[in-house]
Amino acid sequence: MDGNDPRRSLPAVDRVVASLDGLPHPLLVDCAREAVDAARARVESGHPSPPEAEIVADARDRAGRLRRRLLRPVVNATGVLLHTNLGRSPLSAEARAAVDDVAGRASNLELRMDAGTRGSRHEHAGALLARTCGAEAGLVVNNNAAAVLLALAALARGREVVVSRGELVEIGGGFRIPEVMAESGCRLVEVGTTNRTRRSDYAAALGPETALVLRVHASNYRMVGFVESTPVRELASLGPPVIVDAGSGLLDETTPWLDRRPGWLRDEPGVRQALEDGAALVTFSGDKLLGGPQAGILVGRADLLGRVARHPLARAVRADKMTLAALQSVALAYLDGRAGTLPLWRMATRPTQELRARAEAVADAAGGLKVVDTEAVAGGGSLPGRAIPSVGVALETADAAAATKILRNRDVVARVEGSALVCDLRSVDASDDARLVDALRAVREALPG
Ligand SMILES: *Cc1c(COP(=O)(O)O)cnc(C)c1O
Repeated sequence: MDGNDPRRSLPAVDRVVASLDGLPHPLLVDCAREAVDAARARVESGHPSPPEAEIVADARDRAGRLRRRLLRPVVNATGVLLHTNLGRSPLSAEARAAVDDVAGRASNLELRMDAGTRGSRHEHAGALLARTCGAEAGLVVNNNAAAVLLALAALARGREVVVSRGELVEIGGGFRIPEVMAESGCRLVEVGTTNRTRRSDYAAALGPETALVLRVHASNYRMVGFVESTPVRELASLGPPVIVDAGSGLLDETTPWLDRRPGWLRDEPGVRQALEDGAALVTFSGDKLLGGPQAGILVGRADLLGRVARHPLARAVRADKMTLAALQSVALAYLDGRAGTLPLWRMATRPTQELRARAEAVADAAGGLKVVDTEAVAGGGSLPGRAIPSVGVALETADAAAATKILRNRDVVARVEGSALVCDLRSVDASDDARLVDALRAVREALPG
């Protein structure tokens, strides 16, 4: 380097850091270093050295972007109620309070307070959830993918599990039934065809090596036309225990916690009914139609769940106390007949007139928007193709991608339909309508016409 080296005029990283704030010091140092490095790279490729203010502004931008990547709440205006990328089911105030109660202090997680002996973390939420659907026992793990893997590993490792070819599905996020089965160490025995599998197909595949029959709820896709599957009741009469991966976790298909059963649920099967029909175990997610925290729930025969709980993998996928506290609160709400007040069921059953009134108010306040009929969906890989009638606001724009970006910068996630930006109000809490208005105003100001 000679004395005229323009790199020498670049500010020191510490000097840039001194102008930044809003993040822990090591992260600000990262941002400052990246900005100075970027400036140096420009100088080295022959550009003049940028003024210090420009480098500081770049570092500030980087710090801003880093801050925005931190986990934080956003407004879900997609109309997808259980949006996996947006955290699926919101938790009720009661469930959050229950988490708060046990999170900051000691709890009786694994201690029986009456006897003073060691207890099990499955005695709380697991047992209550079993009670909600009439099962002998219940167990909670980290998510439903883990529940399926654990059940297969504990009950069928080295043995055969019979599954319909129509149920060898990929649920999303890389959860493919054949791969999960392989990971569990069991042997997959495929029966029937993609569109039709009869009881006799299962019966022909049974043998001394058969450990289980597995039924997988197709969840995120639907077959129509020349299709046939074998009801759980008939599978249960085959002999080996039947495990049902119910996925979405509709506890009872008669939805006794609602005034009436929503039409969009159509023939979604219930956990209680699968058990009544003879399933030995049912697994499902905590954060889909149950309306709770991320969790995998196994309910069914106590002897099988005992084996599942003793498997070494159970320790690896166990649920933590905050999850168990939230789930306990959700289970109590179901047992109390109050599950209709859970945020998920509130969202799902809001009358469209109410949504329309809110949409009109949002459209008025933001200006230049149309109130439109929309179709919300349950999402989270449940109930594909079954729309929930809804209402939203639409903004016609020549650049929908730019419009959604402006919204995202204000923590609002919307969807694009053709040339319109659509905010569906069914997935938005009414208390967020004002934020929605502000964000939509910003889009109109940035993209007039
Ligand atoms: C969603 C789903 C899973 C995965 O559940 P997670 O709780 O997301 O791990 C597994 N099986 C079925 C049928 C599903 O619908």
